Amino acid sequence: MLIKAPKGTKDILPSEVYKWQYVEKKISELCSNFGYKEIRLPVFEHTELFQRGVGDTTDIVQKEMYTFMDKGGRSITLRPEGTAGVVRSYIENGMASLAMPIKLYYNITAYRYENVQKGRYREFHQFGVECFGSNGPLVDVEIISMLSMFFERLGIKDVELNINSIGCPKCRGEYNKKLLEFFKPNLDKLCGTCKTRYERNPLRIIDCKEETCKIYTKDAPALVDNLCEDCSKHFEGLKEGLENLGIKYNIDKNIVRGLDYYTKTVFEFVSKNIGAQGTVCGGGRYDGLIEECGGNQTPGIGFAIGIERLLLVMESQGIEIPKAEAIDVYIACIGEQAQKYAQKLVYKIRQEGFSAETDLMGRSVKAQMKYADKLGAVYSLVLGDTEVESNKAVLKNMLTGETKDISLDTLIERLKM
Ligand code: ATP
Ligand code: MG
Repeated sequence: MLIKAPKGTKDILPSEVYKWQYVEKKISELCSNFGYKEIRLPVFEHTELFQRGVGDTTDIVQKEMYTFMDKGGRSITLRPEGTAGVVRSYIENGMASLAMPIKLYYNITAYRYENVQKGRYREFHQFGVECFGSNGPLVDVEIISMLSMFFERLGIKDVELNINSIGCPKCRGEYNKKLLEFFKPNLDKLCGTCKTRYERNPLRIIDCKEETCKIYTKDAPALVDNLCEDCSKHFEGLKEGLENLGIKYNIDKNIVRGLDYYTKTVFEFVSKNIGAQGTVCGGGRYDGLIEECGGNQTPGIGFAIGIERLLLVMESQGIEIPKAEAIDVYIACIGEQAQKYAQKLVYKIRQEGFSAETDLMGRSVKAQMKYADKLGAVYSLVLGDTEVESNKAVLKNMLTGETKDISLDTLIERLKM
């Protein structure tokens, strides 16, 4: 083999694609039920958008972006996530003048230069939603409830919802002082990245995946215990709303989320059964982001689910995804006259919206029937000169083995029954 697919990418082959199509259908049904409209955006954006919109101190911007100069000398980045692009489009297209809230969803590929492992790829798929314009915890509850309904509809039982609040810049200012004090005595024991975080954004230290850092972050003061009145009220409202809908949650004081722009509510849905990469979905409120990207101050909230991880969870639970439908009818033929007739008949059947196949390989009748079986055809019939001349054939139900003499003119009517 001369050239292989790049590391961290995966082909989705026809034998697997029905799983993706199934999930995609569930996504569009869900979004339609909750009033979210699809938005489709470019795969690449100006690098600066992600530096601002994802945040300079995040792992994504510091280590993971696919960035290159294009032939016009612009710095371009393949989108590592969906939110920044949606915010850019919201501002650029003047969506602020539309009736609020603005509810959008996307289903995209995203690109990150990662250490490839199970559930962690360099090209992956995300389904996400964003809701702009609403301040209160009601919308936080709405999008979390959307996720719990999504998992329920897919038959997923083993994911747990963890929530937290990381406050607003006001409470974070006070809290940062406490954090700096807390980490100071052990600063030299933290990893290199955390030492930089200590200077630039100490909250990030809590998110560090290094085992040694985890020892010191374990007992660090939590933001959720240091919220200002407004953020505290918001968090109470979120919990109340979830309880009102009967949605179970845990409070996880260590959720910081990877992105700089989150405020107040942050949450994750986690599975224990797919290995180290157990976070299927992450989301949160980002009241400062639109302003950061050059729009008017507008609250926002969203989430993103990794589809690869979602499929891993479904697989680990043994959830059977219905296979794409087999073909309706296979027309086998013997001889030139029958072949011509079959060609026309198949065309007419397809025109009526059914799926039909006939021989394209010059196979024997026996081999054609074997192939029809492989295709999973529901009905089959064999045409020879006699059938064409008499306009009659034997229709076989491949599932039950039942056969029936039919007039060829009535075939389409039968398929409609
Ligand atoms: P992690 O902590 O696992 O690196 P993250 O915080 O970087 O996740 P987000 O940026 O919040 O992830 O992305 C949302 C979701 O997208 C994740 O919960 C996960 O399901 C999926 N995801 C993120 N990165 C990858 C990847 N490299 N490969 C596959 N799925 C991914
Ligand atoms: Mg990551």
